[in-house]
Amino acid sequence: MTGKTIDGKAFAGDVRAQVAEHVERLKKDHGITPGLAVVLVGEDPASEVYVAAKHKQTVEVGMASFEHKLPADVSEEDLFALIDQLNEDPTVHGILCQFPVPDHLNERRVVARIDPNKDVDGLSVVNAGLLASGEKGLVSCTPLGCLMLLRDQVGNMSGMDAVVVGRSNLFGKPMAQLLLGENCTVTIAHSRTKDLADVCRKADILVAAVGRAEMVKGEWVKPGATVIDVGITRIPHPDKPGKTKLLGDVEFATAAENAAAITPVPGGVGPMTIACLLANTVTACCRAHGLEEPTGLTV
Ligand code: NAP
Repeated sequence: MTGKTIDGKAFAGDVRAQVAEHVERLKKDHGITPGLAVVLVGEDPASEVYVAAKHKQTVEVGMASFEHKLPADVSEEDLFALIDQLNEDPTVHGILCQFPVPDHLNERRVVARIDPNKDVDGLSVVNAGLLASGEKGLVSCTPLGCLMLLRDQVGNMSGMDAVVVGRSNLFGKPMAQLLLGENCTVTIAHSRTKDLADVCRKADILVAAVGRAEMVKGEWVKPGATVIDVGITRIPHPDKPGKTKLLGDVEFATAAENAAAITPVPGGVGPMTIACLLANTVTACCRAHGLEEPTGLTV
């Protein structure tokens, strides 16, 4: 039997529709338009694609989108001056700087400069600390999106064994904190983990975020588990010369035979990230104005 394929694209569409409803209400009832500012340094082609997608979706849900493109050789001082200005701007409720930034800039320092209340990427130490303390902050978008998919798929996760493969600040650590918040028994695995296969086999919820194509084998998946595949690796397309194809961290076809449900790559976790960025911006906007924040769009 093959498990259900979780349709992240459709789910992300639902999240964006909810965001659009809240935006509409904020405009109608309070005369407030949530605003998201995106800062892009340099001309990395992949980053330009991401920023364009963020702009398009921001506008589609009715929010204000502010794009700031800075030259690759911008000084830290000038970048920080822009961030300071956005921190002060009452029409801007969310700020993100698209990474990677050129080598002369330090990502941690850039994130630290953003007002934590506007850090809609949830990457600052303040927001990471709030999450770790079980307090309200802004949660990193991709783990938030995975949690939304899991809540929808699994419902009550209390007491379940959850394994997160990967321990990055961007994904693995916040994902583990969120699962702990759901009362899972959480194991974080990484490159030094002994017998990863055995660790994975215990998981009722298995989340893989490594970036190594199909490293998690189907036979590592416990029968009935829910599998969330965050990894993205681009490989040359086997059938279409000159084209590329995306692979996840999980060997999808064999894993789907054991799993109760599994996210595909592409079309699983990926679309949730921007949807959650928009959700975080609405949440940040409501908090900034002392308004009740929407339920279901945050933890
Ligand atoms: P990262 O910072 O490179 O972290 C990768 C993690 O995988 C590290 O903790 C590393 O362990 C662990 N790892 C490496 N080799 C391993 C192995 N053989 N066995 C077990 N663990 C191993 O990556 P990231 O930023 O978390 O992203 C992970 C993947 O998710 C990437 O493919 C990325 O593209 C994707 N991603 C997708 C989205 C999205 O869909 N929107 C968002 C974020 C990330 P050590 O700490 O021991 O080195």
